[in-house]
Amino acid sequence: MKPASFKYLAPDSLAEALALRAEHGDDAKALAGGQSLIPAMNFRVAQPSLLVDLNKINELRYIRREGNELRIGAMTTQSAVERNDLVAKHQPLLFETVPFVAHPQIRNRGTLGGSLAHADPAAEMPVVALALDAKFKAQSKDGERWIPAKEFFQGFFTVDLQPTEYLTEIAYPDLPARTGWCFMEVARRHGDYAMCGIAALVTLDAKGICEKARLVYLNVGDGPVDASRTAALLTGQAITDEAMRAAADKAAGDEMNPFGSVHASPEYQKHLARVLTRRALKTAHERALTAH
Ligand SMILES: Cc1cc2nc3c(=O)[nH]c(=O)nc-3n(C[C@H](O)[C@H](O)[C@H](O)COP(=O)(O)OP(=O)(O)OC[C@H]3O[C@@H](n4cnc5c(N)ncnc54)[C@H](O)[C@@H]3O)c2cc1C
Repeated sequence: MKPASFKYLAPDSLAEALALRAEHGDDAKALAGGQSLIPAMNFRVAQPSLLVDLNKINELRYIRREGNELRIGAMTTQSAVERNDLVAKHQPLLFETVPFVAHPQIRNRGTLGGSLAHADPAAEMPVVALALDAKFKAQSKDGERWIPAKEFFQGFFTVDLQPTEYLTEIAYPDLPARTGWCFMEVARRHGDYAMCGIAALVTLDAKGICEKARLVYLNVGDGPVDASRTAALLTGQAITDEAMRAAADKAAGDEMNPFGSVHASPEYQKHLARVLTRRALKTAHERALTAH
């Protein structure tokens, strides 16, 4: 398949890119790694009239500490995130999850910002960003604003970005003390989009009781699915096998609505969610017991 015809511009600076966005609005589609956009254009699902290639803009590629946050530029590749010591040290959930995204060749081109702006309900990066309460910097020619993850993801392939804005940075706050993490998914082959996946976080108080939990799922709804009512039930409890089983049943039974696909029926996806919730909670709890 070939894409519909389009114009192509590759600005050298963010200021130039934002000026193009201001002038052309939604017609000016950002080209990041192209790993989702180019196939969509080839299938003519996407037919932008102008591609603004962000790849020459080095000011959007960085990973750095700022206060108690890890800041990552939107054009940082998934591979760079996967190999970064700061990510390994300060954001172990993100570090653990990136290798589940597609294959190394795709992660060499695919960007963190592209994955988040694309907001595929089956993608790993939105789930991790929501579980970690990340914030997203949207910039336009006239200024910038920060958007919390729970507002950024607005449904099926939809995010809170205005036609004048590009996503430029993601901020991940440090985990609280005594927090354990875990990401797990089930895909037919490693690197495929998963049939179900979960990011789990457990924070314990000094006595080992659950102070806060977070359970966020992929591919069981129209975006990352935050099972917040189930997580609230765990608060104030000891994380026993029984509590984990009850949480798994509630999350799968009450807090998700998988669509099913040729590979997995909605019932099977819920079964996976149940099993993964128990396993991920167990690992997150064990890690919380030894976390600082
Ligand atoms: C075979 C294959 C398997 C894959 N498997 C997985 C998988 O298992 N899990 C997974 O999560 N992903 C998977 N992907 C997708 C891959 O992770 C992509 O890299 C990612 O979805 C998009 O990132 P990108 O940088 O390539 O963005 P692009 O494809 O360039 O852009 C995607 C969309 O985001 C917009 N966009 C990009 N950057 C910005 C920005 N800074 N501001 C505003 N809008 C922006 C673009 O305009 C476009 O609409 C797979 C891809 C392929 C080809």
